[in-house]
Amino acid sequence: MAMVETVSGPVEENSLGSVLMHEHVFILTPEMEQDYPETVKWNEEEKVASAIAELNALKAAGIDTIVDLTVLTMGRYLPRLARIAAETDLNIVVASGLYTFDALPRFLALVGPGAPIEGPEPMIDMFTKDVLEGIGDTGIKAGIFKCATDVQGVTPGVERVLRAVAQAHRNTGAPISTHTNAAMKRGLDQQKIFAEEGVDLTRVVIGHSGDSTDLDYLKEVADQGSTLGMDRFGMDRGAYSDFATRVGVVADLCEAGYADRMVLSHDANCWMDWLPKEVAKGTAMELPNWHFRHISEEVLPALRERGVSEDHITLMMETNPKRLLAAPKVAY
Ligand SMILES: [Zn+2]
Repeated sequence: MAMVETVSGPVEENSLGSVLMHEHVFILTPEMEQDYPETVKWNEEEKVASAIAELNALKAAGIDTIVDLTVLTMGRYLPRLARIAAETDLNIVVASGLYTFDALPRFLALVGPGAPIEGPEPMIDMFTKDVLEGIGDTGIKAGIFKCATDVQGVTPGVERVLRAVAQAHRNTGAPISTHTNAAMKRGLDQQKIFAEEGVDLTRVVIGHSGDSTDLDYLKEVADQGSTLGMDRFGMDRGAYSDFATRVGVVADLCEAGYADRMVLSHDANCWMDWLPKEVAKGTAMELPNWHFRHISEEVLPALRERGVSEDHITLMMETNPKRLLAAPKVAY
């Protein structure tokens, strides 16, 4: 039986259970928490305690595992996460990779292929080590890779991240999960680069696909073997697709035979300083459904109402995540 790495160590693939494939515990900008905690309403002990309570409530709601896709540039900090994981039975899988829509952090912009100090891509070794040896000196191993392509498209910085993630994936066998701008069909751009790098596209989740209502685009991505991340349930006001639209796209794709190519998630967080919940509250930016229990409490019942079978729900919540996370970790 394959083992899957989590914050609290490896677990057997069958204990993954029901999985949310794209979430975050904390998204932080460490200098804000260090130097301006009042501005962003940060209180470490309070936020850690409320994260533990929220993750335990999620476990009680029937979810067994979350994949925390918080990577470089998003304030990932494993010692804090390990403290939280120790207080919950929920499995937390962590990610390697880098989140940017355009430029790279300064060091990487100056060192590497095409950079002023020309040389091999440092990110390949960085990301490979995260999976094989652990992140920093924590010994906690990443179980998945993350990268992003948004409005700006495949800029030179984004392209380096995508190709480095592809190579680190080939060094380790760990799957890839992405952020896309779905309206601009960025998933196809990502698949093209991954294919050029020799990536098996069945090992890739094209994220934020659930933001799209373009079934032709979604089928084109899935027909190349990748899994569609229907992963922003709860982001359902303002410019985002509403609840019924998000549910409808998943139901339509199930009916069209794509239940084996979708995973469900929220891209929610226990807390983030990009827009603290305390600041969003009462404004047009408040998203009342954007929390970890929305799928268990509202989305799955609505999918059943739309005629989605228990078998299809099991595929999206259990079988597909297990297939992605528990594949043998081999270089190719
Ligand atoms: Zn995310």
